[in-house]
Amino acid sequence: MIRFHQVNKHYGHFHVLKDINLTVHSGEVVVVIGPSGSGKSTLVRCINRLEAITDGELIVDGIRLNDKKTDINQIRRNIGMVFQHFNLYPHMSVLKNITLAPIKVANMSEKEARETAMLYLDKVGISGKADAYPWQLSGGQQQRVAIARGLAMKPKIMLFDEPTSALDPETIGEVLDVMKTLALEGMTMVVVTHEMGFAREVADRVVFMDQGRIVEDAVPAEFFAEPKQERAQLFLSRVL
Ligand code: ADP
Ligand code: MG
Repeated sequence: MIRFHQVNKHYGHFHVLKDINLTVHSGEVVVVIGPSGSGKSTLVRCINRLEAITDGELIVDGIRLNDKKTDINQIRRNIGMVFQHFNLYPHMSVLKNITLAPIKVANMSEKEARETAMLYLDKVGISGKADAYPWQLSGGQQQRVAIARGLAMKPKIMLFDEPTSALDPETIGEVLDVMKTLALEGMTMVVVTHEMGFAREVADRVVFMDQGRIVEDAVPAEFFAEPKQERAQLFLSRVL
């Protein structure tokens, strides 16, 4: 579903991604961890072309992203993204937040978009909040709306960039539960998170980044038992 082959990216003179090789198969959940500034967000943002790669090859759902002929909007339609800070439209109701893209981008009828939205709101456990505004919701509820919004486009891939980092501790679990359900249903997911419990329990693979490189890519049991790289060992000793 996603394949990075010898991908490099620069921000001006800064070499942010170095020789990235990474494959994510359909239905796989890959958790990306690593210190702040190691390039995790950049890696994830390349997948839906919020960032362009400098060289190498990045193929998503069979489409080569660094090809000039590639229709970026078509790729983005198949990828949902959830950010740390929810990024809901503050002046729109929950329902409107979710139906906007399906109506405007996917040409869904208003009725169908509404029905789809209600379905996903129910799935994330907040169908009672359809008419509320984001400011009336807790952080955990807002993040679940953001997930429902991503799902409403029926994506093949969901990307999460520290989805629980801005949440109160007591609402982190409700968001992780929704993500876990998605994973069990077979969604292809790339998740940047510091929640090691989630990584251990839900991930098919854990990727550890340091200074723009993937220095470890292993199944969780192996990674947590005995990370091969010293940097990963040090990181784990700090977060666990
Ligand atoms: P992480 O998500 O692991 O914290 P990022 O991918 O956000 O790392 O950033 C990696 C590095 O790239 C950091 O040093 C950051 O300052 C730098 N960086 C991120 N975005 C930009 C940008 N738009 N322009 C220049 N440098 C950037
Ligand atoms: Mg980041």
